[in-house]
Amino acid sequence: MKVLPPDVVSLLSDVAELRLGLLPDEKFSNEVVDAEAIFLESREIDENILKIAKKLRIIALDGVGYDHVDVEACTRHGVYVTNTPGVLSDAVADLTVAFMLCLSRDLVEADRYSRVKWASEGELQKLGFDLEGKVCGIIGLGRIGFEVAKRVHAFGMRILYYDMFRNKQAESQFGATFAELDRLLKESDYVTLHVFLGEKTRGMIGRRELSLMKNTAYIVNTSRGAVIDQSALVEFLRTNRIAGAGLDVFEKEPIPSDDPILKLDNVILAPHIGSATVETRHAMALTAANDILAVLKGEVPSNPVLEQKDKVFLKK
Ligand code: NAD
Repeated sequence: MKVLPPDVVSLLSDVAELRLGLLPDEKFSNEVVDAEAIFLESREIDENILKIAKKLRIIALDGVGYDHVDVEACTRHGVYVTNTPGVLSDAVADLTVAFMLCLSRDLVEADRYSRVKWASEGELQKLGFDLEGKVCGIIGLGRIGFEVAKRVHAFGMRILYYDMFRNKQAESQFGATFAELDRLLKESDYVTLHVFLGEKTRGMIGRRELSLMKNTAYIVNTSRGAVIDQSALVEFLRTNRIAGAGLDVFEKEPIPSDDPILKLDNVILAPHIGSATVETRHAMALTAANDILAVLKGEVPSNPVLEQKDKVFLKK
């Protein structure tokens, strides 16, 4: 479990008894029997937990994605589900651009070369690519997508975006152009994903979509692993039908040690660290803690998930 910042621990322990720790399933069920609030990272929450946790009033997620929580069941049980929108957008956008830079300059290989081969083999012959003038295709131009647009615009990239909604602000501020998904995939040099994981986005990038991409293009995913069909992605990377990938999220996390993706050298991997900066993790913990405090005081939380906007649940 992530270590909670001391000021957040003291804020919560002023009003509640805290039980901190990552618990195995059977222990978790015991602990939630009398819990009024759960500060949640990645564990799944389903009907079974809600049936046991009869006093539960809020599940405060330490993150923005909530595909692991059955929100419909929580609503039926009168349990608020909150998340931490906005406070992590900069950190995830920074990581996204870091992947693009690392891929375009092959920075991981450059590091290995400097250590092992430079002295004996001389100058590295392989050239990288500029970001300036390239097309960045942003799939999902919400909070994080917007911050990515801001950054890649500063690098002189042209922006295509695909979303359910038009983003007029990104269009006027960064010259972003709305494009249907197929056009975006065909024309982009870098494709980056920032949709949430849901019924419509699970597997939205499969074999057909990957085959539309240029074989010189890179794909970056800092959203959720299951948005891309990972076995199709491995196949396209192995056969160089796309140039490379930067991935922070995977269908199975942690990545199983026999996963073929670990064998590829045109992919840069990160262990789901999109929000993992000191400042961002602190802001996330504080946001979640403040919503817990609000609900324990009988108030409505500030950051309910979309499906619970304007919902008010009675005290149990
Ligand atoms: P957001 O809700 O602000 O943005 C999501 C965007 O995707 C919205 O603009 C929405 O309209 C669009 N979208 C959703 N479904 C779509 C579809 N079917 N077709 C086209 N567009 C669609 O969310 P956000 O705060 O930008 O976060 C995006 C996602 O990033 C989260 O849901 C989460 O899964 C992921 N995330 C990952 C990390 C990490 O550590 N790597 C950290 C935070 C968030």
